[in-house]
Amino acid sequence: MEALNLVLFVVEAVAYFVLMVTLLHFRHRLGLGVFLTALGVMHFMETYLAAVFYVSLPFGDVSPGSSVFFSGKLMMILMLYLWEDAAAVRQPIYGLFLGNLLTVGIAWVLQLHQPLQLSSDQTPDVDFLKEMGWLMIWGTALLYVDSLGIILLYEKLGDFFRRRVVLRFIISGFVLLTFDQVGFFAALHYFLDVPVAVFWGGWKAKMLAVCLYGAMFAIYEYRIRRLGAAAAARSISDVFGDLTFRERYNDLLERTGRDMLTGVYDRTRMELEAPLMVREALRQGLSASVLIIDADHFKDVNDGYGHLQGDAVLKSIAARLGTTLRSSDRIFRFGGEEFVAVCPGTNHEEGLLLAERLRWTIATSVKTPDGSPVTVSIGVAAADEDGTSFTTVLSAADGRLYAAKKSGRNCVVGRSGVVNSGKPADPPVNAIG
Ligand code: GH3
Ligand code: MG
Ligand code: MG
Repeated sequence: MEALNLVLFVVEAVAYFVLMVTLLHFRHRLGLGVFLTALGVMHFMETYLAAVFYVSLPFGDVSPGSSVFFSGKLMMILMLYLWEDAAAVRQPIYGLFLGNLLTVGIAWVLQLHQPLQLSSDQTPDVDFLKEMGWLMIWGTALLYVDSLGIILLYEKLGDFFRRRVVLRFIISGFVLLTFDQVGFFAALHYFLDVPVAVFWGGWKAKMLAVCLYGAMFAIYEYRIRRLGAAAAARSISDVFGDLTFRERYNDLLERTGRDMLTGVYDRTRMELEAPLMVREALRQGLSASVLIIDADHFKDVNDGYGHLQGDAVLKSIAARLGTTLRSSDRIFRFGGEEFVAVCPGTNHEEGLLLAERLRWTIATSVKTPDGSPVTVSIGVAAADEDGTSFTTVLSAADGRLYAAKKSGRNCVVGRSGVVNSGKPADPPVNAIG
């Protein structure tokens, strides 16, 4: 008997998964509503079964309601999130939550009725209505936490193994369904004295269900969805197909906000990120220095060699800046031939050394087409010595850049004036990094 039950258990899980994933797969053709409605209908079935229908399996007495269908629903919510986004998955999460509350409320009102006796052998059964009380509220709250939890955990696991989607799927299922089993069983045990053996039986059945769903997810993912995506022949689909909406967004963000010519971050990114970098450094009790770098007599480069050559020179300036700075530093193109570097964890003194190193590197390695050196002037300021907001620090640095230009260019100016007055080939003393 137990063996037959086990076979039926597998059949139910396969049927549920195949139907639901088919609806999800064809959501663009059918509309997402078909999938969501089916999910809601199955929720009713699952609640009913979990209340009244238990079968014995080799590892305990379990209800297909909670092991097959509840687990399945959670995995479907995760799959919906994977292929759509937070805005889509919010719909069933909120819908199930609010619908459940409404069900409990209405069940309570219905009990105030005096229902008619339709025939002598059919008495109205209000027991099920009565049971839909606090236990259902508790289950509903758990479902809400489970749904958010499984998504957050899946995202978090992406930090460790981003491309292993099936592994992430299975681990998230194991963890959240274990959490759910503990949470739900605690209530059953505490209020209804349900024995501990029921906990283990239910838990094993849920883990088995996750294994089945994980295996079917793998088959679907590698045999059906990716082949379809490959046939669609979009070059980035193989990368993007694996990523969640948030990961795709972060990927895009990483690519955008770059200046076309030099490849460094652009001014918009500076406005967004530089203030955060400064604030975060200060929050950690660190300094942050801001360098503003302007090419000297750049108009002459353009006038002498043409704008295209000028562009090439700008590119090599940006490349030098990029390779000289540390990975925690950020370089932005502020304007035409002006760059801003934000260096967290670097105080004013260290900022000056860094600026001097940049100045020296550029003066000795960037050349115009006829071999004459290109130089830059740099103004340096730091938080919190010169202010606590990026804007104030930047304007202090800007004032010093102006002073650098006035003192003959090809030099660095900090709080106490010029650091090096324009000796192009001087190696930097005490170079850092
Ligand atoms: P200095 O800063 O030393 O005072 O002199 P400058 O000649 O560099 O003066 P300024 O900063 O006022 O001029 C900047 C010049 O940079 C003007 C503009 O033609 C040039 N420039 C700005 N953006 C670009 C660009 O994207 N490509 C090229 N080729 N030139 C640019
Ligand atoms: Mg200039
Ligand atoms: Mg300029």
